Order: sequence, then C-alpha cells, then structure tokens
Amino acid sequence: MKLRTSLVLMGLFFISLVHAENFTQGNTDRARALIDAAVEAHGGEALLDDLQTLIIEQESVNYSVDQSRAAEPPWDKSPGYGIDAIDLENAVFVNTANNSSGGFESRNRTVINGDDSYQMNLRAGTVARIAEPDFDTTSGPFVRVTPALLLRTLKSREANANYLGETSADGVDYDVVGFSMTVGPAISLYFEKGTHILRRSERVFPGFGLVEYRFDDYETKGEIPYNRSFTLYLNGDINLERTIKSVRVNEPLDALLEVPEGLVSIPEAQPDPLSRQELAEGVWLIGGNGTYAMFVDMGDYIFAAGGAAGIPDRIDLLREVVGDKPLRYGMMTHHHFDHVLGVPVYEEEGATVIAATAHERVVRRAATSGETLELQLVDEKMVLEAGDRRVEIIDIGPTAHTEHLLVAWLPEEGILFEADHFAMPAAGPVPPAVSSTKTFAAAVADHGLEVKRFVSAHSAKPGTPADLEQALQTKEYQARR
Ligand SMILES: [Zn+2]
Repeated sequence: MKLRTSLVLMGLFFISLVHAENFTQGNTDRARALIDAAVEAHGGEALLDDLQTLIIEQESVNYSVDQSRAAEPPWDKSPGYGIDAIDLENAVFVNTANNSSGGFESRNRTVINGDDSYQMNLRAGTVARIAEPDFDTTSGPFVRVTPALLLRTLKSREANANYLGETSADGVDYDVVGFSMTVGPAISLYFEKGTHILRRSERVFPGFGLVEYRFDDYETKGEIPYNRSFTLYLNGDINLERTIKSVRVNEPLDALLEVPEGLVSIPEAQPDPLSRQELAEGVWLIGGNGTYAMFVDMGDYIFAAGGAAGIPDRIDLLREVVGDKPLRYGMMTHHHFDHVLGVPVYEEEGATVIAATAHERVVRRAATSGETLELQLVDEKMVLEAGDRRVEIIDIGPTAHTEHLLVAWLPEEGILFEADHFAMPAAGPVPPAVSSTKTFAAAVADHGLEVKRFVSAHSAKPGTPADLEQALQTKEYQARR
C-alpha cells in the first residue's frame, strides 16, 4: 500500500516537472547545463574529484589605493610573495605570506590542521595556537582565486546556483552563473561562451562595493587548466596583480605544516571588548576590536584624536564621564580610508575636524557634506590651550607610512597619540620594528618630544620609550637564527 502511494506520488512529481516550464525551472536547468559544461572545460568531474592537494606559489604586486604615502594617485605599489596549500580530504590549509607595504614588513604563516592549527609570525618569531580553526573561512580566499577549486565548489553547490544571464565585456561574450558561498556574499562567475572557461568572478559587499577577479591566461597541468595569473579590482580600480610561479598537484603538505624551531609561544588573540581607560586626569583612551581614539577634557570642551572605526561607540562611552560637554575638535591622524571613518561622526557632533593640509580632499570626501564641513587645516603645528592643559597637534611626517602624520602631543602628561606606526601587541614580546616604526621613532626624536607614553589608534596598551627602544633593537627571527 505504502509503495503504491509512493509510486503514484512519483508519477505526479515527474508529470509536474515536465509541465513546470516556468522561469525558475528554466533558469535552474540552464545553470546546471552551464556548470556541467564548465566542469568539463576545467578537466571534468572525475579529475576534479581526484584533486586531493594543491600547492600554489605566487608573487604579487599590490596597489595601495587610498592607502599610499601620498593622498593622490599614482598609488604606491608593493611586492608580495606567498604559498597557499590545501588538502581537501583532510580539511588542511596553509597560507604563507611575505609582504612589504606602507612601511610594514610581514612574514606570516597560518596553518589550519585540526588540533595542530597555528598562527605564526615568522618576522617576530612567535607562534599562537588556534583553538577553534575554521577551514572554510580561512581557505575561502584561496578557493575563490583558484578556478579548479571554485569549479569543484560550484559543482557541489549547484543546487544553490542560478543562471544570471549573458553579457559582453572587452569583446568577449559570457554566460554568468551566480551561487551562494558558505561564507560571505554570493558570487557571480563569468564563463567565456564557446570555451566555458572561467574568466571572471564578482562579489558585492554591502557598504563597500564590487570585488572582481579576472583570470586571464591558463596553463593545463594534468589535464586541468590552472590560471597563471589573476588580477583583483576593487570598485573598478586595480588592486592586486598576482603571478602564479608554480602549481603542484597531489603532493604532500607535511613540510608546510611544521612549526619552525625557536618560535616563542604566545597566547591566541582574544576578543577585545569596548573599554575606557583614563591615561591621566581628563585624558581617556576608548576603544576595542583593534581601534581606539583618545579624548582630552579641555575644560569647556573635548578634544578628540583619531578617526578609526567605531567613533560613535567611543563617544557614547566618553559621555558617561564628561556628560554633554561639547566635542569641539576631532583630529584625523592621516588620510587612509580606515582613519577618516570618524569624519562624518565628528561632523554630526558639530565639531571642527583637524587634518593635515595635504589631506583636505580626502577628509572632505569622507564627510557627509564635504563643502560645509568645519575644517581646520594644519601645516606644521596647531596648539590648543586651556588652563593647565596643552595639546599640540604636530605634523611629524614624512614617515615610511605616510607623507603627513598628525600626532596629538600632551607635553605636560608626556602622552603622544598616533596611528599606524607603533602599536603594542596585546600579548607576547614587542616585535622587531618595521620601517614605519623606525621612521616614526626618528621623527619623534627630531621634534624633541620627550614622550613617556606612546598611545596608538590600534592598541589598548600604551607603549613606553623602553618598549620603542626594544622594538628598534630586536632582530628579526630570520636574522636571530
Ligand atoms: Zn595608515
């Protein structure tokens, strides 16, 4: 009886499929047909399934759009080198990245390998165990720029795919398929008509815009085509060019999983909740999650330094101790996009924004109403005085990070607030100074500032002159060995 009912229902199901000539059905069928053709063009399902490990070595050029030393183009270009390795069966992923950008030199390695997952800083010589490794999130960026892996994912998630339409760009015709990823916004894949090879992928991030990858030339290895390069565009601007140096298929990852000798164990980075600390009477550092602002009580009003993320929350916490005292000034340290987020907030508070003269265009662009923004431009120095309180706003640039850098200097308290040059780590030893830190230390000395505490827009922990000296004296891990 039960069997017969099922058969009848199945019959109905098949009949309904035949008659379901609607938009959604047609769209889904077309997506599936295109995915099958694309999988075939990228080596076929059997070969893609046999892909167990992949090790890709690459070199890149990064364009620092709105993050260069100067506020206007041409943007600084900086080199990078890396190795990505994935073991699909065992959910193991390794990323090694050596970069040098904006006065920051870094050599980092992330290993996602179950209980043996680590975050290594191979410049500082530290290693932190990752307690809750997340294979999908950590390997996602690599999967998204590796067509063979993207095609595998697409095939396995074809139930989440839709045909988006056809389009042409630069004389090439494309079929476009969209599908949802396990992490982040949906992705659109552009397959070249005729060859069915993946040429582009795009994602739209709310509040940020369009992220686009282009895969230009392919080389076939073991019957699977691998891209030899890719280019990243952010909102239409070139951001990264990557050249693939080598592709190794189904080789063991073992050598990449080892923790090199002599690394110092440090605790894993912990959540950093919003907090307020009084650095001196009437001087507060307020922030969390890696961004902080400093507020100074000037008697009749408040002076704020720093424009990084989260200024509204920081002002809320400030109000608990200063009531509704007017916030009269908000100082921007420099022009980088992550340091002018506070402009519209200070604007709404009715404050005057203080910025380096060279950063006027960027700061006005960051405002809600750039033309009417109350803006005080600083060439070399500006002083605010009220009673015993003195705040000096000094352009101590150029540094390796930016041509102009405004710091807030409180000579009485010996407190100096800055961004992106010297941030104390939440845990572990002070890392060896990067170029940005070295040039900052020299600029502070040149200006004769007798600093007792260095307060950073990116650390809850003020640093001392001894900490800075330690950073300058500490050799890199590679050099120590
Ligand atoms: Zn910066």
